[in-house]
Amino acid sequence: MKIALIAHDKKKEDMIRFATAYKDIFSKHELFATGTTGLRIQEATGLSIHRFQSGPLGGDQEIGARIARNEMDLVLFFRDPLTSQPHEPDVSALIRLCDVYSIPLATNMGTAEVLVRGLKRGDIEWRKIERDQG
Ligand code: PGA
Repeated sequence: MKIALIAHDKKKEDMIRFATAYKDIFSKHELFATGTTGLRIQEATGLSIHRFQSGPLGGDQEIGARIARNEMDLVLFFRDPLTSQPHEPDVSALIRLCDVYSIPLATNMGTAEVLVRGLKRGDIEWRKIERDQG
């Protein structure tokens, strides 16, 4: 599966802890991330991650483009709802595209836990069929 990881600045520590906790699962999949999130996870876990631009510089839009091309299967986006983001329109657009294409999306760690456990159990295997048809 192709998994996108994004964390706003105040959520990056949470994302690193999360990626570390689920490293064994993540290592079986193809990982993508916005620039700084990807770098921090790579440094902390050694996982191999394809890094896009930093979020405020277009990284969210790059991930959105992958979704629009049916090339992303799961998005784990640790948003900071208490800090205004310069790229808020990009954030909204990314969430919207997940809804347009029915891509499983977590916007907080609680939901991400459920999705990653589901991923391990095979609950997202239907994405392979969708991708093959796409
Ligand atoms: P970053 O981008 O991983 O490059 O910090 C995340 C974001 O703020 O959207």
